[in-house]
This record gives sequence, structure tokens and C-alpha cells, in this order.
Amino acid sequence: MQNYELLIERIVKSAGLEKEEVERKVEAKKAKLSGLISKEGAAQIIAAELGISFENQDLKISELMGGMKSVNVVGKVINLFPVREYSKNGREGKVANFVIADETGNTRVVLWDTNHILLIENGTIKQDDVVEIKNGSTRDSEIHLSGFSELKKSDVVMEDIKTERMISEKTLGEVQQGQSVKIRGIVVQVFQPRFYSVCPNCNKKAIQEGELYKCAEHGVVTPKDRAILNFVLDDGTETIRVVMFSDQINTLIPEEDLKDAEKATALRDDLMGTEIYLSGIVKKNQLFENLEIVASSVEKIDVEKLIEKLNEKD
Ligand SMILES: [Zn+2]
Repeated sequence: MQNYELLIERIVKSAGLEKEEVERKVEAKKAKLSGLISKEGAAQIIAAELGISFENQDLKISELMGGMKSVNVVGKVINLFPVREYSKNGREGKVANFVIADETGNTRVVLWDTNHILLIENGTIKQDDVVEIKNGSTRDSEIHLSGFSELKKSDVVMEDIKTERMISEKTLGEVQQGQSVKIRGIVVQVFQPRFYSVCPNCNKKAIQEGELYKCAEHGVVTPKDRAILNFVLDDGTETIRVVMFSDQINTLIPEEDLKDAEKATALRDDLMGTEIYLSGIVKKNQLFENLEIVASSVEKIDVEKLIEKLNEKD
């Protein structure tokens, strides 16, 4: 509940309200949304409604949201990537990025300014250094630094940092491209499963040429079918389309069974209206330009387990 406490503290300070009052507002918002939203999500809505800006403040990484214009954070470099050169529209440039972590989470930082990039090239900023960032902006779930941003090495000592990839429980109203998320919601629509042909050796898409199927690497192959299943999830704040591939489908039903109309219908009926925990990565659908979630796990909610977990939290 650490992130939630941070959020509440910040709202209390910024709005000049009593903590109890803020918490009452959060509870009321949660109740209004039929409890489908997390406490954190509800607190973020309350902050927005109170006109509280998180800009130009020293923030913890877990407090960052997309679209912030002036962000200050301190974090330890836990992953430093080689500087890359690119050319775009006839212009050459360099870009560098690293991942910083604090005790609440971690995030990628992207450097576009040559003076900042130089700090990495000349070894001033190295892996495991603590850095201070001022006036960064957030794009999706990353911090971007321009020529107006400040980047320097910090003397702050950071020991207890969160290095595992962040998977936070979010609401669909909050998710952004590139995030690993865990969402609790209800399946409101299930589409007809589709099949495509893959190479049996490497599982990559096999291209049909006349009567033959060819793999770019393995030549002519006897393809096997793999299933894709799409459904729509609603968490009370938004709906989003979810894509499931074979590995996830097989946790619910052997994918071969989806070719059997009766079994496929039974699975659809079973999923429809079911409350699930969905883990996955938020991607942009190239065709429709909207966000969708590529599932990494789909878990039906076990109500008893959920109550246990809620009790643990309190
Ligand atoms: Zn192949």
C-alpha cells in the first residue's frame, strides 16, 4: 500500500485537507465505481478532480504518470544501455537510455541532449550511480530529457531499491502503451477464435504460396495451426481489447479444441461475464491505432483468495 500512502500524503499536502477527508473521498469514489477501481486509481481521480498537479515537485518513481511536463526524480541507474546513433529525415543524432530505480519502482530514462549523452560517453554517469533529474517530461511510462532538463550525478545513497520490472494493478483508464499491467475486470465480449499457420520448427508465421507453406528460415514446411482469441475486458473505467495467443489459451482450453465449434462456444459462454485478473503488456494496435493488451496470463478470480489478499493489505 506504499504508493497509495504516498498519493494520499501528497493530496493532503497540496489540497490542505485532512487525511480522513481525503480517504473518505477515495472510498466514495471507489464505491461509486462499484469497487472495480483500485484505491490508488481512485486517489488519482480525486487528485485530478481537486486540480492537484504533480508537476515541478520531487516525485517518487511510482508517482509518475504519462504526460507530465516538469518532473524531478532521484534514482539509481540499474541498467545502462549503449548510446545509439540514428538518422531521421536526413538528420543524424544520438540517443541514450538507462533505467533508474528508487524504493517505489523503476522507469526508463531517454536522453536526447548531446550534453547529457556526453555524461554517459565519458563515463561520468555509470551503472549503479545515483542520478538527479530535474525538469524531465514523461511520455508513456518513460522520462524524456531535453536540452531544458538537468541531469547530474547525486551524492544520495540508495540501497533499498525496487529492481524487478514493475507490474502494477491499474485501471484501464490509466494504462499506457508499453506498460506491464495487471487488471481486474469482467469479460464483456468474446470473439470467434481465429487460426493462422506457423512453421512447426520455429513457430514463426508460415507464408502460403500456392499449395505450399514456406518458413523464411526452414523452407517448405507442413504448417501447424495456432489460435488467436480476442475478447473485450471492462473494469468499470474503460473497456479494452485483449489478445490471447496459444500459450495463454492453452491454460484455459487445449487450443485444438477451439476448432470444435461446440467446445469453442462452451469456452466463450464460460468466459462471458466472468471476472478475471489479466496480466499483460499494453500495445498499440497498428491497424486501429487504439491500445490493446497482449495477455501474458488470464486468471479467473477466486473470490476466497481475493478476500484473503484484501485482508492481508489492511
Ligand atoms: Zn521455421
